[in-house]
Amino acid sequence: MLNLDLLHGMTKRQLIDWMMTNNLLEALKKCEACNEPLVLKPTKRNHDELGWRCFKSGCLKYATWILIFPGYCCRSEAVIICHLLLVDRPSTI
Ligand SMILES: [Zn+2]
Repeated sequence: MLNLDLLHGMTKRQLIDWMMTNNLLEALKKCEACNEPLVLKPTKRNHDELGWRCFKSGCLKYATWILIFPGYCCRSEAVIICHLLLVDRPSTI
């Protein structure tokens, strides 16, 4: 079960790290195009403030941003709750 008190004081980044540690989000992801590990980078492009990117030179998806959250249809209840908490957090970047 989720301990919501624990999550309440976290920043967006801490919440995402917590979700990755608890296997609610993928902590490692590979590029769909070249199969190299993607790099997690801060961004202001989405409200998660993090995204995956491929930095393999020559890759078709080079530097393309990939969202850290799965599509709505694929989200578990825990992921939906955490994402709602995350959206409420003030920006840290
Ligand atoms: Zn790639």
